Amino acid sequence: MMKSLLIANRGEIACRIIRTARRMGIRTVAVYSDADANALHVRSADEAVHIGPSAARESYLVGEKIIAAAKQTGAEAIHPGYGFLSENAEFAQSVMDAGLIWVGPNPASITAMGLKDAAKERMIAAGVPVTPGYLGEDQSPDRLQSEADAIGYPVLIKAVAGGGGKGMRRVDAADDFADALTSCKREAASSFGDDRVLIEKYILSPRHIEVQVFGDTHGNIVHLFERDCSLQRRHQKVIEEAPAPGMDERTRESVCAAAVAAAKAVDYVGAGTIEFIADASEGLHADRIWFMEMNTRLQVEHPVTEEITGQDLVEWQLRVASGEPLPKQQDELSINGWAMEARLYAEDPAKGFLPSTGRLDIFHLEPGEGGRIDTGVTEGAEISPFYDPMIAKVIAHGADRAEAIAHLSAMLDDSAVWPVKANAGFLVKALAHPDFASGTVDTGLIAREGDALMPPELPSDSALTQAAMAIVPQSLQAGFRLNAQDRRTARFLLDGQAVEVTLHGPGATDPAPSMLVAEGGQVWRLEPWRAEGGPGGHAGDGAILAPMPGRVIAVDVKAGDTVAKGQKLLTLEAMKMEHTLTAPFDGTVAELNASAGAQVEVEAVLALIEPQGDKA
Ligand code: ADP
Ligand code: ADP
Ligand code: MG
Repeated sequence: MMKSLLIANRGEIACRIIRTARRMGIRTVAVYSDADANALHVRSADEAVHIGPSAARESYLVGEKIIAAAKQTGAEAIHPGYGFLSENAEFAQSVMDAGLIWVGPNPASITAMGLKDAAKERMIAAGVPVTPGYLGEDQSPDRLQSEADAIGYPVLIKAVAGGGGKGMRRVDAADDFADALTSCKREAASSFGDDRVLIEKYILSPRHIEVQVFGDTHGNIVHLFERDCSLQRRHQKVIEEAPAPGMDERTRESVCAAAVAAAKAVDYVGAGTIEFIADASEGLHADRIWFMEMNTRLQVEHPVTEEITGQDLVEWQLRVASGEPLPKQQDELSINGWAMEARLYAEDPAKGFLPSTGRLDIFHLEPGEGGRIDTGVTEGAEISPFYDPMIAKVIAHGADRAEAIAHLSAMLDDSAVWPVKANAGFLVKALAHPDFASGTVDTGLIAREGDALMPPELPSDSALTQAAMAIVPQSLQAGFRLNAQDRRTARFLLDGQAVEVTLHGPGATDPAPSMLVAEGGQVWRLEPWRAEGGPGGHAGDGAILAPMPGRVIAVDVKAGDTVAKGQKLLTLEAMKMEHTLTAPFDGTVAELNASAGAQVEVEAVLALIEPQGDKA
């Protein structure tokens, strides 16, 4: 067994790998960028090496720096985690050439599965059913159009080098094909440096089913059953589970056998995932499940497989990389109960899922009974704009699916993240959706139900009242009216918006200037009403702050304008997303500090809205 290991990654997956290595008595080495100097993965490892600036392409994606760090610390092996260099065959080869152990498959297997078209050709040859479509060399728009016409709409155009849900366009009619092709190729060229595409039949009622496979250097390959990752937003997984709802034993055997055949076809060693797309319009059937792609690494959602099989997949990886045979044979593996994982992201569902950055002043997330939290951050950590905004994976295990959902939902419901925004409230709503609860979810659910899954804008009356009671003595100073002896209406600011709360009974005697209200996975700040505002004040006063560093692309108001709550003020472009800032309440534009084209810093005060009826 190896004695030391360098983890070429960050965040939750680096912490996850370190945990298992520790337990196995393996010395761990972390690498980190400027932004991660104080990160949890750095503190968790036995040693850590600084590898450069915050931008991943200058640190985590620089193979030479990582290999040098391994040499410098005498690490014997490198684990790439997922993302970053994990599916980079050239890097895998350089690690081996440097005399280090690569915790992953042979570079040749990575290459064989790296491009979606070549991988599909290979699978066809191995007798694995693949999604029907066009994989040809001829990339002329005319040829692609005629192939799409022949396949029949809807079709999906996919970048052959695509990943992470990017470089894909669904086309519903022949007339839309040319435009979709152009924009898909543009995105593919800029994201992957390769604009070649393939065309697939768009599967209706699609469900994403994938199979965990594992190979060793002795020629053994097993599967660890399937996962269902059908709850997706923009082709990216949101909630994953194992096993797949509605999967009967015959279908399971068939899809798992196809996965093992796929892995065998590329002499697979280590952890891998074969992704399939299923036409679930009439339930799951073996002859309606097709190979989509292979991910030649540990997958984000591997914990659900660990929870139902009782195996530690990182331990398997380290054993296999050390030359040991697989810890278990196929007939020693079985499914116990149900597991479900939700990806907790630092993002704001109410603002089009805009990534949210800043200091995690509050990060409350408890595993509870039957729960597991895989995270790379602790309270006080800084969420930077440099990396993927996933802050934790929340995992529940139960005797059956309903129990897993109940546990997961309870953990999310009880969580609190502040002032960084998180998607917990959205996840709670998704788990409660009747189609999800009944297991009939397809990949389009979130897009179809979008608004219905939005978490409530306000806390419940009872939560609001309770919080208001605690700060009521201060609100006596402004905007407080007595209606009857013990029934009063008071005005407060809830995340900067005016709210009126009816209070019953006398106010609390121990006043607090503000109070956080946490409910259903969401957090709001409740403050006494303050009439004074003015520059230098904070978001609660009607100051319109830039949510991220970015560029102002449109300004829709001018100083002095009267605006209504929700009215568009200006549009900012940040992290390749357009983001509209609106008036938090009825009022007037007291100040306007932004013009179109201006580059702005995060939290710059772009405008100041003075509430109606207020004389500053
Ligand atoms: P999974 O099915 O495990 O979610 P994905 O291919 O969607 O696999 O991506 C896994 C992780 O790798 C993502 O969470 C993302 O952080 C990271 N990732 C994916 N593509 C890229 C990329 N092009 N650059 C950097 N990180 C990426
Ligand atoms: P990526 O490399 O970005 O993960 P995939 O090929 O795995 O790309 O596809 C990502 C997601 O897109 C799938 O999980 C599924 O939701 C959807 N998808 C892919 N192919 C099809 C298809 N032929 N029909 C319907 N949906 C598809
Ligand atoms: Mg995929």
